[in-house]
Amino acid sequence: MNETALSCANLSRYYRTRDGLLSRPKWLKALDNVSFELSAGQTLAVVGESGCGKSTLARVISMIEPPTRGQLVITGTAVAEAPPRSIRTLRSRIQIIFQDPYGSLNPRKKVGSILQEPLIINTDLSRHQRRDAAAAMLDRVDMRPEHISRYPHMFSGGQRQRIAIARALMLKPRIVVADEPVSALDVSIQAQILNLLMDLQASLKLALVFISHNLGVVHHIADHVLVMYLGRTVEQGAKQTIFNQPLHPYTRALMASTPFVDPSRRAKRVVLTGELPSPLNPPSGCAFHQRCPRAQDRCQHERPNLRDIAGRRVACHFTEQQSIDDRSGD
Ligand code: SF4
Repeated sequence: MNETALSCANLSRYYRTRDGLLSRPKWLKALDNVSFELSAGQTLAVVGESGCGKSTLARVISMIEPPTRGQLVITGTAVAEAPPRSIRTLRSRIQIIFQDPYGSLNPRKKVGSILQEPLIINTDLSRHQRRDAAAAMLDRVDMRPEHISRYPHMFSGGQRQRIAIARALMLKPRIVVADEPVSALDVSIQAQILNLLMDLQASLKLALVFISHNLGVVHHIADHVLVMYLGRTVEQGAKQTIFNQPLHPYTRALMASTPFVDPSRRAKRVVLTGELPSPLNPPSGCAFHQRCPRAQDRCQHERPNLRDIAGRRVACHFTEQQSIDDRSGD
């Protein structure tokens, strides 16, 4: 059994904001009560539409933003209770890769400097040792030695994402959060970057949190899946469980729009209509009820809790009925 690298309990991130100039301040719940555990060498994919809270989750678990509530535990240490002197160590154990590799790399610095920067701040390595470490990491992401003295703008999008991955790994993190790491890349390059991430994860035994709106990619890379809607978890479990029989209507709708899913299954699933509601004015009851084809009166008033059903966790009042319907072929 692999050790738990990352654990979140009821993790929440709220922002105080206003609807308009004269309106009262409100709480925008970008992330609300998300919990999971992730072991070394495993990948958790976090999926949902744009605006569902995936990127907020990525920033909170990467320690870029503090949670408003809940507990974040990195390699066995609760971040909120860690002494200030150990915060830098904790930060070095979890690294993030962003969607836009160009925006995340300093255009005025050569690749060698970009890769050495985390070592200058966090280690006592000599200049010579830092140069060697940068060269070794560049080789590890399949870049050529001469690339070390070039600037980011001299590379393609795929190469820049390789550099971003190399930089994220310079401090030997235990956890990597990849926030839509291939969605800005050409389709032809996406598979190469995904395969590189998977190879590195296996050889370094990384825990990988993979944020994506693309279920095709998630199917390729994930061990576990967490589906989010308006900041909350609506379904989470092992990849095969979720992909073989999604039970939440929102998960089913996401699957219905994914081309790789077996067409005979797809036909039975719901099609997603309407827009994601504003998180400033979330619907009462189940946040999905305005778009849900199975919604009933109860859904407008009563928010469903996340419950253990059929080998996963689901937040829907009528999951048992869905499960029965699936078995009877309705
Ligand atoms: Fe749909 Fe009701 Fe389930 Fe929400 S609780 S997903 S509205 S059936």
